[in-house]
Amino acid sequence: MIGAWCFLDHAGPANYSAGQGLTIGPHPHIGLQTFSWMIEGTILHTDSLGYRQWIHPGQVNLMTAGRGISHAEESPEDSAGRFQLAQLWIALPKPESDREPSFHHYPDLPILDRGGFRITVLAGSFAGEKAPAQVFSPLVGLDFATPGAAATGLTLDPAFEYGVLTLEGEARVEGQPLSPGTLLYFAPGRETLAIESLSASRLLLIGGLPFGEEILLWWNFVARSVGEMETATRDWRQGNRFGQVRGARGAPLHAPELRGLRPRSGG
Ligand code: MN
Repeated sequence: MIGAWCFLDHAGPANYSAGQGLTIGPHPHIGLQTFSWMIEGTILHTDSLGYRQWIHPGQVNLMTAGRGISHAEESPEDSAGRFQLAQLWIALPKPESDREPSFHHYPDLPILDRGGFRITVLAGSFAGEKAPAQVFSPLVGLDFATPGAAATGLTLDPAFEYGVLTLEGEARVEGQPLSPGTLLYFAPGRETLAIESLSASRLLLIGGLPFGEEILLWWNFVARSVGEMETATRDWRQGNRFGQVRGARGAPLHAPELRGLRPRSGG
């Protein structure tokens, strides 16, 4: 974990032919927020609250699962296309873990220009700009994009831990070369961070106050006991709690057998 950020999926960049795009059928979530940052292409989100929302590049979808929600995600079906997105999960702190589910679409985010980087404030605050997403732990998310050489120094919150992932191209973070596929972690106590790129690149920076609670992360659930996982799995299999996603293209996902649970230390 990095702060309350407990999962990061960098999907794509990928080209697909007509009918071969992303199709993720209905599936449930508890105890977390899904945070979708669309970089290229477009995806349709549908959920059990009745939301049906296209997400486009530069936009964020935030779904707060709380005590339970189900959703589906799919590419446009009838044409070839390309997609790239980062989907992150944010663990809800214990007092918020059972809250009512909700969904928000954020089409406009704060953007700053620094040293050649276009910085989008995805979550939390940076340089006086505050992202609109409602989160329940102190955290930050920033996207850095440049078409060419760029360099900047950031002021960090020394109480936060941080991670930086190159999404495209090559970058140097604190002088360290960073290619796609490697997450560079920084423990609390750091006050500045130098980010450079010699050519076109895109990076994601996430950070937050160490979570301070031990959680379980299994399948699509965040919980604090195996019993909670068992109950959520049974509820999904029996069609309880998680409502209905209407109009999704894909078939509902089957919950796997409950095994391999391991604590994620948020300390
Ligand atoms: Mn999901």
